[in-house]
Amino acid sequence: MMVQKPEMIEKFMKINKYGRPGTKRSKTTKIAWHFTGQHDVPAKNTVSYFSNVVANGYKVNGKYIYASSHYVMGLEGEIYYIVPETEIAYTTNSANAYSIGVECATTGVDDHYTDEEYKSMVKLGAYLACKYKLDPRKDFIRHYDVTRKICPRYFVNHKSHWEQFKLDCYNYLNGLVKEKDIVNCTNGKGITVIPDATQNKTQLVRILQDVNIRSAADFTDASVIGVVKKGGVYTVVEKIERTGTDMYKLKSGVYITASKKYVEVFEK
Ligand SMILES: [Zn+2]
Repeated sequence: MMVQKPEMIEKFMKINKYGRPGTKRSKTTKIAWHFTGQHDVPAKNTVSYFSNVVANGYKVNGKYIYASSHYVMGLEGEIYYIVPETEIAYTTNSANAYSIGVECATTGVDDHYTDEEYKSMVKLGAYLACKYKLDPRKDFIRHYDVTRKICPRYFVNHKSHWEQFKLDCYNYLNGLVKEKDIVNCTNGKGITVIPDATQNKTQLVRILQDVNIRSAADFTDASVIGVVKKGGVYTVVEKIERTGTDMYKLKSGVYITASKKYVEVFEK
């Protein structure tokens, strides 16, 4: 299935040693996702920073900044294309030689994405995956996966939403969801974890030892609302990544621990 090239503003940086050295890339095996570092910064400002500041030689603490990106995504869903895909951009450190970099604006203190932007991210992601024959589920990477830098912040802090984003790109690429059905999973109101539409498997959890059921995804005394007994089997709708122990959200809307000591997940 062919994915249409999304509408974009093509505005290549001039060749310069700080952001667009003009070096050809030999292959594209990954698409690397980033956030611009500060929330609520318009994409045009980021583009201008790369093209008019960094490109002219800009020092911070006495050292030149080397930075750029192939694409810059904005909060209104606008897409800037500023370094040709065939060339190196200085985005993803050691992955620059084989990846295309996408810098995304964010909003709010948690650095999430707007609905318009999320839709554009999925469309651009699917388009690039189609063009380079990539599988978003394994060929999309976060800057974090290369350097452990907390980038893009939302997708590092919310791993299940990162998985959902990749799945949304995969589903759109394969015609399993239409543009109007793309739901922003990062804005706090979106649903999360639609099972992979090609597999349609249900994730179930079997209780190995009695565990507390909770009204919220935390382990405080206040959230305890009951107990599920050993031997019970429930449907998992979401895995919540936490520092410490992860949790599962069950179909009934309650939460339980994801600790393998207490529960076991299987598919049906
Ligand atoms: Zn980054």
